[in-house]
Amino acid sequence: MDSIRLKARAKINLSLDVLGKREDGYHDVRMVMQTIGIYDRLIITKIPEDEIRIQSNLFYLPINENNLIYKAAKLLKDEFGFAGGVDVNLNKFIPVAAGMAGGSTDAASTLFGINKIYELGLSQNKLMELGVQIGADVPYCIMRGTALAEGIGEQLSRLKPVPHMWIVVAKPPINISTKLVYEQLDMNDILYHPNVDKMIQAINKESIEEIAANMGNVLERVTIPLYPIIDSIKNDMLSHGAINAMMSGSGPTVFGIFPNERTALNCQAYLKLKKEAKQVYITETFN
Ligand code: ATP
Repeated sequence: MDSIRLKARAKINLSLDVLGKREDGYHDVRMVMQTIGIYDRLIITKIPEDEIRIQSNLFYLPINENNLIYKAAKLLKDEFGFAGGVDVNLNKFIPVAAGMAGGSTDAASTLFGINKIYELGLSQNKLMELGVQIGADVPYCIMRGTALAEGIGEQLSRLKPVPHMWIVVAKPPINISTKLVYEQLDMNDILYHPNVDKMIQAINKESIEEIAANMGNVLERVTIPLYPIIDSIKNDMLSHGAINAMMSGSGPTVFGIFPNERTALNCQAYLKLKKEAKQVYITETFN
């Protein structure tokens, strides 16, 4: 096999709690992660030259060593020294700098794809171990599905898959740096922590109502005062049929859970008309 086509899927956080700041500057988190249908398309091809080449449909994305695809390819090349290189064609659909792990999932698919085309024989666990060197969300993006992430996000426990849900995703035209949000998070300022255990119970009960009722994200405390548009989109989703709506990760993307496709379509039409968010998609949970 000389080439592989992959779908690198985005995630949302159904619950995101921060437990404290660590000595090394990272934060200890407790998050319930969920893969959704939105994906980037990657075509990874072997090339004889000892190079890592990236092409992308978005002119503003780095295609050099700053792209997480490059970092993933370089890591495997350095560790396992296979002869030759890769050409990666990235068709990006996941909103960028949006709290949906877009870069991390591209890195995860790159690790997966190179392992296959170069027949490195690495297990999923080994790929996940390598992935954390690129980013805390990369191991989860390799695992996918419904999972509890602890530590800095790399300690993963598989959860029962959530029931199928219709999701509307809306990204306002602002880019947020995850690093900046965590830097500005004041632990003493977190008045409300989401109940992650209750979220897990709701998932075990397969109750969409209870999943929606237990959604919570402490990072909203930093991001919403900076960008009130996030709250506005949440309220619009709630007044247009969402069972609940919340910011994903460090934002600014907002997602809403909808009872059916029709209400999701209605809400999408409204949000597009209102033009608060440029990118508004309907998607589904993916397990
Ligand atoms: P997370 O949810 O993990 O915080 P995010 O969705 O907030 O991720 P990304 O879309 O991964 O953020 O992008 C963050 C930055 O990383 C972008 O500004 C971009 O320049 C850079 N980047 C590097 N590689 C990629 C990639 N393959 N796709 C998107 N962005 C990338």
